[in-house]
Amino acid sequence: MPDQPEPGAPERLRRRGGPPKTATLLRKEWLNDSMVRLFFGGADVDQLSELEYTDHYLKILFPGPVTRTYTIRSLDRKTGELAIDFVVHGDEGLAGPWAATVDPGAVIEFRGPGGGYAPQEQYDAHLLAGDEAAIPAIAAAIERLPVQASAVAVLEVADADHRLAVPSDRAEIVWVHRDGRPYGERLAEVVRERGLPEGRVQVFVHGNAGMVKDLRRYFFLECGLDRRDASISGYWRTGQNEDAWQAGKHEFVAQMEAEEAAVGSGAH
Ligand SMILES: Cc1cc2nc3c(=O)[nH]c(=O)nc-3n(C[C@H](O)[C@H](O)[C@H](O)COP(=O)(O)OP(=O)(O)OC[C@H]3O[C@@H](n4cnc5c(N)ncnc54)[C@H](O)[C@@H]3O)c2cc1C
Repeated sequence: MPDQPEPGAPERLRRRGGPPKTATLLRKEWLNDSMVRLFFGGADVDQLSELEYTDHYLKILFPGPVTRTYTIRSLDRKTGELAIDFVVHGDEGLAGPWAATVDPGAVIEFRGPGGGYAPQEQYDAHLLAGDEAAIPAIAAAIERLPVQASAVAVLEVADADHRLAVPSDRAEIVWVHRDGRPYGERLAEVVRERGLPEGRVQVFVHGNAGMVKDLRRYFFLECGLDRRDASISGYWRTGQNEDAWQAGKHEFVAQMEAEEAAVGSGAH
């Protein structure tokens, strides 16, 4: 596929912060027609330090310089395989079309991992919610849930045919189907309908930025959730590629926080 750029870092990025790490695509597995799991390996994968968090992500470098952010779904030290689940969301964009068509043997360059959330023991309950882009991080979190805590994961997919295999022994899984509605709308509705679980709750909500904005207002203003108990941010925004979203994210978050502060203080 000559039109599909292979990820690669330009010289400027190589010089900034040292050379990027590399990984080789070992194999790929379609989870359904809109999600493909790519397994990477190589010396830099073997040398990644212990993954402390469940939302660890890599910045994959494409020519440009352009980066795309992806969660480490799993890292199997025995086989040396690092798995990433890519949403295939049509022909638009770089990473989605690349992941759909790339063949084993391809080499990627990346930076990271970053990350900052893992389910913690001091909570009575865990609420996890997200669309397909966040399902890898939510699935990884479910695998690390403390034994004594209750947990619910509200997961949005296109329709009933697009449900994914996520671990269900530790958490109640609630599937939400878009069925043609905009991303995140139904997910936010279902989270609101169900309400916050009883007790001290740790919240992990990621995915479409519009849904995140709505649910921040719900958790922080309507439920009075302490912001320190939540990991909640937009992974992507409808109609914007990652470059535009990341460039405008600071302003989006500042405006969202100002609106929350205005509502919180009773102003309009
Ligand atoms: C910390 C973090 C972790 C992430 N982990 C994952 C992950 O594990 N798997 C994953 O698939 N994504 C993940 N994402 C989201 C991913 O980085 C974005 O979806 C990214 O925009 C995809 O790049 P692209 O080149 O395919 O599309 P872009 O070139 O960025 O966008 C092209 C068009 O596609 C739309 N678009 C982008 N993403 C989606 C989507 N998911 N569904 C529908 N339309 C979309 C955009 O709005 C735009 O109109 C993560 C993001 C963050 C910040």
